Amino acid sequence: MVGAASLAAMIRAQSDSADRRMDRPGIPQFVVEYVLFHEMLHVKHPTRRSGCTLVSHSPEFRAEEKRFDQFTLARKVLDNLAR
Ligand SMILES: [Zn+2]
Repeated sequence: MVGAASLAAMIRAQSDSADRRMDRPGIPQFVVEYVLFHEMLHVKHPTRRSGCTLVSHSPEFRAEEKRFDQFTLARKVLDNLAR
């Protein structure tokens, strides 16, 4: 039989480790910012038709996207997540 005090201690220990997990979110802030930046560029550069294909990521889109500070690193993180 587990006493109320040690039960309370166990629950506290459980929620402490849950809190620590929450302090370590899986996706870094700059990656979230990059995704938002990318989506905003879609507003600025709408999808256009080129012959019979649709172009969402035009060369102009891609060039402007690279202006994001941590573009290369953010892409790397996303590529790893998608794997
Ligand atoms: Zn896109």
